[in-house]
Amino acid sequence: MSLINHTHDTSLTSWVASANTLNNDFPIQNLPFAIFRRKGSQEAFRGAVAIGDQVVDLAALASLGLYDGAVQKALVNASKPQLNDLMAMEQSTWSALRCALSAALATGSEHQAKLESILIAQADIEFDLPCRIGDYTDFYTSINHATTIGSIFRPENPLLPNYKWVPIGYHGRSSSITVSGKDFHRPCGQTKAPAATEPSFGPCKRLDYEMEVGIYIGAGNEMGEAIDIDQADQHIFGMCLFNDWSARDIQGWEYQPLGPFLAKNFASTVSPWIITNEALAPYREAWSRDAADPQPLPYLDSEQNSALGSYDVQLEVTLQTAKMREEGQAGQKITRTSFNHSYWTVAQMVAHHTVNGCNLQPGDFFGSGTQSGPSLDQVGSMMELTGAGKNSFTLENGESRVFLEDGDAVIMSGFCEKAGAARIGFGEVRSTILPAKA
Ligand code: CA
Repeated sequence: MSLINHTHDTSLTSWVASANTLNNDFPIQNLPFAIFRRKGSQEAFRGAVAIGDQVVDLAALASLGLYDGAVQKALVNASKPQLNDLMAMEQSTWSALRCALSAALATGSEHQAKLESILIAQADIEFDLPCRIGDYTDFYTSINHATTIGSIFRPENPLLPNYKWVPIGYHGRSSSITVSGKDFHRPCGQTKAPAATEPSFGPCKRLDYEMEVGIYIGAGNEMGEAIDIDQADQHIFGMCLFNDWSARDIQGWEYQPLGPFLAKNFASTVSPWIITNEALAPYREAWSRDAADPQPLPYLDSEQNSALGSYDVQLEVTLQTAKMREEGQAGQKITRTSFNHSYWTVAQMVAHHTVNGCNLQPGDFFGSGTQSGPSLDQVGSMMELTGAGKNSFTLENGESRVFLEDGDAVIMSGFCEKAGAARIGFGEVRSTILPAKA
């Protein structure tokens, strides 16, 4: 079932002029959600939808009383400090809200005058996490990433035998997920150099980013009831950019036998805007598995997944060192890849996660795992970029890096573009590394 409808038409324009400019992230075909308030204020956080360089205050829109029925109920839920109650609604209700917002913001809207009074410039707002994230699951869906990382630890046998059968994942930690702009201190922990006889304690020396797509679950499933792969779209609210910071040296010592622990749970950062699954519909693509590889088991396979399972989301990483910042430089782009390289689809992640009866809840969050394309300029971590720290890379301003240094800011951005569809953007996720606490 395609989610494409008239809200995706490229001919649609908005009376908000900035939404109609070339390469702007938030044209009327996007309409992503976030939680916001005016910068520096003590206002209650509430929902917003982005349009050009402005946002519509959804709490104010709810109180205008322009709507009734499901749309008004959705607006009331979007007025709360977290979007979980909106996410818990049915896909048809999210779609009805999108349709109403599209009409209200379109050129010639009867509601233009009223909505003009409740626009706020994006430059004047600050964000909070868009929802209460109950559980965070981190997948590992990039076979390029899994192979490169595996080859560092097991050169003769990089990919473990389960990889091509199971969408590999582990349960992460949600308490340390924060929204873009929140900086954090370099973590401390136990590390052990290969030649050392004992571990030592101190600041992480191999701090890395992970370029991931974040997936927000909408309506959940009852415990004991699996979500069929073809029902996944009813449960996927939307996506964001996700930097799942990693302490590689801490990970290397602690990860056996139960996997990473403190190397992964000190900070993870999401972009503020949730691009809805419906907004992403035009950029979905056919998904297939190499004939030489194992084909997915029946519960991970369907015609719909093969026809539309993949999402072509362009992903970019920019590094801005402290020196660049002092000199007024925006940073240097070091990676560009697409989510369509993923070995497993989002629908397969949802089907696999629930096949044992595990219940997902509104606001649950999946990390896609680090997304890496096949070439070195498409890798989603410094671990891959530097061959696990063996090769430093030189930036255009002459600085070099092996892993991240204090003062480095990592900025991830994303967008979708395709012939016959509008270009929509994800905004950005940005965070700066502060020195370890003494
Ligand atoms: Ca991760």
